[in-house]
Amino acid sequence: MNREDFEILKEQVHGQQLVYLDNAATSQKPQQVTNAIMEAYAHWNSNIHRGVHHLSQVATMKHEDARRKVADFIGAQSADEIIFTKGTTDSLNALAFSYGEVYIQEGDEIIVSAVEHHSNIVPWQMLCERKKAVLRHIPLRDDLTLDIEAFKGMLNIRTKLVSIAHVSNVLGTILPIEEIIRLAHEKNIPVCLDGAQSVPHMKVDVQALDCDFLAFSGHKMYGPTGIGVLYGKREWLEKIPPHEGGGEMINHVRWSGTTYNELPYKFEAGTPNFVGSYALQKAIEYVQKVGFEAIETHEKELTEYCEQKLNKIEGIKIYAINQPKAGVISFNIYNGSSLIHPFDIGTLLDQQGVAVRTGHHCAEPLIDELGIPGTVRVSFGLYNEKEDVDTFISALKKSVMILS
Ligand code: PLP
Repeated sequence: MNREDFEILKEQVHGQQLVYLDNAATSQKPQQVTNAIMEAYAHWNSNIHRGVHHLSQVATMKHEDARRKVADFIGAQSADEIIFTKGTTDSLNALAFSYGEVYIQEGDEIIVSAVEHHSNIVPWQMLCERKKAVLRHIPLRDDLTLDIEAFKGMLNIRTKLVSIAHVSNVLGTILPIEEIIRLAHEKNIPVCLDGAQSVPHMKVDVQALDCDFLAFSGHKMYGPTGIGVLYGKREWLEKIPPHEGGGEMINHVRWSGTTYNELPYKFEAGTPNFVGSYALQKAIEYVQKVGFEAIETHEKELTEYCEQKLNKIEGIKIYAINQPKAGVISFNIYNGSSLIHPFDIGTLLDQQGVAVRTGHHCAEPLIDELGIPGTVRVSFGLYNEKEDVDTFISALKKSVMILS
């Protein structure tokens, strides 16, 4: 993997060489992406869709090329099914509003899982509050896998949507989404996937999976911040109303009322992030050039290597150890029976140049269920190497020695 493309990896932190292991929060960007942003502002910046002049037409073409690229990347049937948003959170909020407006009534049920990020909980809670509906969650078994038997028992005629993480951002575990989609579809219930932690790490094909919606963020997959995607099957997107009003999403506006634009513009009110979409396209091209086979093999190797090394540390507790993961490991370290606070470990690692994330990782219900204040989370990107793991492990041992 070409680390040279990632300028930031040469940075020093507190006088130490940076070791970046916080990719689940956001990934670093290759020069192909940062150059694209510079190029857009330097050469063709202009508002899209509305202008007859050259720059506007170039910018429009680039934005629509990016949409086609995203459609191809996730195996969508058509580019019309790709809505550009600000990110996963924005996508899920948009869906909660639009879908909820039409399809959720008093007493209806929405199902998420016990491992969700707040982004896939709170928008549904807000919707349930508005509509007097009920949010339920699939519980975990003792080994931290999803209790599919319980899920089967939860599906009923009031269930109107299942919205579920593809990969847990805390545990790194890959959820059994194929089975979840099959079981939900047997009862004609649509399924939304939160792909924030899967799309950067594995081939996600929406038609092969047959999911109804998919949300993901550009910044977690080597693209820029402020751009993300909501995919929806055309049949659903045509049936649900826009979540925001403004320019671009309209067909005609009269004092007597407004008619809406066709897909996907109906869901893109205002000036879109056309520089972001162009840079996202470059990130996708970068990932495709490396290839998901190589990415998955590399990240699996790193995860296993790191888990093995961690497992030798006295007092360690690795969550969901040995389960199939997508480049994320969460752990805590106990000194006898008392937990060394993850924040203290994270702070000492930082002083040694190692960036990890500590805390509840925006998944408080899961952390509460585990009965801990948080975890230390290590997460890999395609540019991480075994040497990064070695540096992290020796910095961790030093930190634990100081804190014990
Ligand atoms: N869902 C999951 C599983 C995540 O890990 C994250 C971010 O960490 C999000 C949603 C929210 O993503 P964003 O902050 O890019 O909207």
